[in-house]
Amino acid sequence: MRILLVEDEPSAATMLAKGLREESYAVDIAADGETALAQAFVNDYDLIILDVVLPGKDGFKVCRELRTNGLSAPVLMLTARDAVEDRVEGLDSGADDYLSKPFDFEELLARVRALLRRRPALYPEVITVGNLSVHTRARHVTRAGQSIDLTAKEYALLEYLARRAGEVVSRTDIAEHVWDESYDPFSKVIEVFIQRLRRKVDEGQPLKLIHTRRGEGYLLTAKGTDVDD
Ligand code: CA
Repeated sequence: MRILLVEDEPSAATMLAKGLREESYAVDIAADGETALAQAFVNDYDLIILDVVLPGKDGFKVCRELRTNGLSAPVLMLTARDAVEDRVEGLDSGADDYLSKPFDFEELLARVRALLRRRPALYPEVITVGNLSVHTRARHVTRAGQSIDLTAKEYALLEYLARRAGEVVSRTDIAEHVWDESYDPFSKVIEVFIQRLRRKVDEGQPLKLIHTRRGEGYLLTAKGTDVDD
């Protein structure tokens, strides 16, 4: 899940991004509204966290422009104070939810999860592929009832493949939703993580779930596949 975090205060942005990354989200940071809009139109974000108080265009204006341009990613607005006008204006501008500063990080996480869950087809609580279960709320994975220990990034990659189980997922899609803007398209990082997941998820199992489609991408499925490498 890739999040765009729009916040101009560097220390707040860094702290929030760090916390979100620890929860296995990929996070890009934009420090002003224009940059945020430019990034949101280029990248396919799963969620946008938008501070209201920004230099230049404020969060309300940014949100209106996103919606006017047909961008439907859920927006969580961060308001400076718990003022009714701010909340109303935020929701009117097309935000899906708001949180008043100062807030507890755990509450921010809960709101993020709730907003992502509103798209149930994309974000069910438990995704099952064969005997693999991905528990998206606890970010916990089991295979045949055995717990699998994954790092935050390994989990994020597996969850993304699981959400699109049965489909061939391209490296570009993986890079867009699991990595952030620091992703180097010439690196082998996705291949490396796929290998790690194979070791943890498939090794010793009679049925392999993670498949490679050369030149196309990867596929998570419990159905037997005829072409595989
Ligand atoms: Ca701010």
